[in-house]
Amino acid sequence: AASTSKPVGIDPSRLTITKTTTPKTPSDPATLVFGREFTDHMLTIEWTRQDGWLPPQIAPYQNLSLDPATCVFHYAFECFEGLKAYKDKSGNVRLFRPDKNMQRFNKSAARIALPTFEPTALIDLMSKFTKLEERFIPNQRGYSLYLRPTMIGTQKTIGVGAPGSALLYIIASPVGPYYPTGFKAVSLEATNYAVRAWPGGVGDKKLGANYAPCIVPQLEAGSRGFQQNLWLFGEEEYVTEVGTMNMFVAIKNKETGQKELITAPLDGTILAGITRDSILSLAREKLAPEGWAVVERKYTMKELDEASQEGRLMEAFGSGTAAIVSPVRKISWKGKLVDCGLNELEESGEIALRMKGWMEARQYGDEEHAWSYVC
Ligand code: PMP
Repeated sequence: AASTSKPVGIDPSRLTITKTTTPKTPSDPATLVFGREFTDHMLTIEWTRQDGWLPPQIAPYQNLSLDPATCVFHYAFECFEGLKAYKDKSGNVRLFRPDKNMQRFNKSAARIALPTFEPTALIDLMSKFTKLEERFIPNQRGYSLYLRPTMIGTQKTIGVGAPGSALLYIIASPVGPYYPTGFKAVSLEATNYAVRAWPGGVGDKKLGANYAPCIVPQLEAGSRGFQQNLWLFGEEEYVTEVGTMNMFVAIKNKETGQKELITAPLDGTILAGITRDSILSLAREKLAPEGWAVVERKYTMKELDEASQEGRLMEAFGSGTAAIVSPVRKISWKGKLVDCGLNELEESGEIALRMKGWMEARQYGDEEHAWSYVC
């Protein structure tokens, strides 16, 4: 029978919590490997086309049970997010710009015919869930609790169509610093035989389907001694992203000598990184007054090579939630190595280093800022 009531939104007031009877002992933070360990609980919210979002649940971390015909397994109805919770020096738990992640999550979900939700409702629930797991957040600088909101289509059908049911869940994994012993600049291989994203495609969405095809080029780069691959696009060889990070370069303008911090624009081929957005804001706030131009524009590998040869390429770095910034030493391109401005003794340029400091000040709440959401 058709439901008479309208499908409902996520309702945090209907949350039920079932605590584990077998709590884990959090591991020694020094031994953490990214994404291997999870906390005691998970947050789940089911959705059906008929009834909308069902009451949210926090329950012990557990396997999902899904029919082999479930549409997620066949047609990749899956999208996800990644953000971190930090413990500040007073013991408060803080999320970093969760509103941005929720906005991006909704855009990803909408693109693959999965349901959307009210961002503040999920932030509220995520905040409660994170508080419940707070003993898993190491209270040392560089450590955090990585949150992985995920949405999957759960309808049991191998017919291709919009899923009539979905599951939104959040799991959490304690993580250590990306560079435990300080920055280590990485070397990249520019990938010339595969593209990550294209105009009109979905590379600007955080869909699981975007990630599996990126592993082979990363392995290929790895087999030749490079830590990551650099994604180029088109005949022009535009520089787009590095592995699963956005890319920034600091260049002195050829004509004017003006110092420019450049990243590719959000033209549909670039994932709108929250770190990218934060770095652009910080640059406009703190570097522009020092005379820097902060620029979102397309730039090519040829342009980087030329700047490098003329000594105008000051530094290059990737940006993302996992590492914040990841300095780049060299890029292998067309049989040559493009030097990215670091001398042999340096593991980071000045901009990347300062950005990391500015970001951490806001993430760990040393500097009170609207970006930090106290749970
Ligand atoms: N690009 C890609 C392809 C990514 O997967 C990520 C990680 N989400 C980023 C960039 C960086 O995004 P963020 O700063 O939000 O972590």
